[in-house]
Amino acid sequence: MPPSPKVDSGPSSMLAMPSPGLPPFDYIRAGDRAEVTCLLLEHGADARLLMGGTDIFVQMRDGALAPSIVIDVKHLSGMMVMSFDPQTGLQVGAAVNMNAMAASPAVSAHYPLLVQAVESVASYQLRTRATMGGNLCNASPAADTAPAALVLGARCVVWGPDGERVIPVNEFFLGVRKTALQPGEFLTRIDFPIPPAGNAGRYLKLGRNAGGDLAIVGVSVLGYPDDSAASGYRFRIAMASVAPTPIRAYAAEMLLAEQPISDNTLAHAARATGEAARPIDDLRGSARYRKAMARNLSQRALTDVWVQLQEER
Ligand SMILES: Cc1cc2nc3c(=O)[nH]c(=O)nc-3n(C[C@H](O)[C@H](O)[C@H](O)COP(=O)(O)OP(=O)(O)OC[C@H]3O[C@@H](n4cnc5c(N)ncnc54)[C@H](O)[C@@H]3O)c2cc1C
Repeated sequence: MPPSPKVDSGPSSMLAMPSPGLPPFDYIRAGDRAEVTCLLLEHGADARLLMGGTDIFVQMRDGALAPSIVIDVKHLSGMMVMSFDPQTGLQVGAAVNMNAMAASPAVSAHYPLLVQAVESVASYQLRTRATMGGNLCNASPAADTAPAALVLGARCVVWGPDGERVIPVNEFFLGVRKTALQPGEFLTRIDFPIPPAGNAGRYLKLGRNAGGDLAIVGVSVLGYPDDSAASGYRFRIAMASVAPTPIRAYAAEMLLAEQPISDNTLAHAARATGEAARPIDDLRGSARYRKAMARNLSQRALTDVWVQLQEER
């Protein structure tokens, strides 16, 4: 008879665990923005910022990141503030959590697409910690709030060695986990302009389960009447998880601005959206499946937005 496997519940079995915990690091609660910039310049990639911690600590636990200092900036001025002005739009501090965004009457009234996007992230419990700022800065191709940010024309307000600057969100993502943030810079706020009058939006996400999985594909559509377009309407379409960065489907958008809107046009646009996808094979789905789902989800989202636009006419 073979010997029975040895069961050891002592400290040595802890060492055998694949994810034994976090590596050692110094936690620094920054005093002000200038200190954050100094620390980032001094430590470079060895320093990381902390928002909700739902990405960074998972990556540290899994050995993908090992910063020697983690800088907490949530308490700094403006980071937790959210405000809406009917002339200028919505400002969301980088440390505002997703549940606070979804619960805001101004966000629900003027940016319902944003509510759909944040509510598609993980679970209610996780969203009590998770921030949209962290979601964008983490720069995962699967970030669920990125397509909404793209179609709503969000701007990332950052602080750095030269003070404040604004990066349009369509210039923010440079690659997988790469952003346009320069050395010493960090995100302080996300600004959203007033959405076009009469708009309707939809975010559709396909995950492996209904309980809050990362997107296999995510498609965001914003449509609105516009007399300057030959069709009388413009649509903005953005996707998650189908390319190294979140992307817009510009060819499909053009088609919808130029051709009279019909079931046929919507189907053509959905096909063009699928063609814009440049996905990879990974454990959540094959590239072929993702492309097909980009087309199917965009067909559904476009149809849904079109129905809403017709009802609001
Ligand atoms: C169980 C689970 C389920 C999840 N499901 C989803 C999902 O369905 N959809 C989805 O999109 N994501 C999901 N995530 C990922 C994660 O929850 C989100 O990306 C979340 O929005 C990250 O926000 P955070 O505040 O926790 O960021 P943090 O973890 O604090 O930070 C994320 C990264 O951004 C950097 N960073 C943070 N703030 C700044 C800043 N102000 N300036 C510069 N850099 C900064 C950090 O250094 C870190 O590298 C899931 C995570 C878990 C653990």
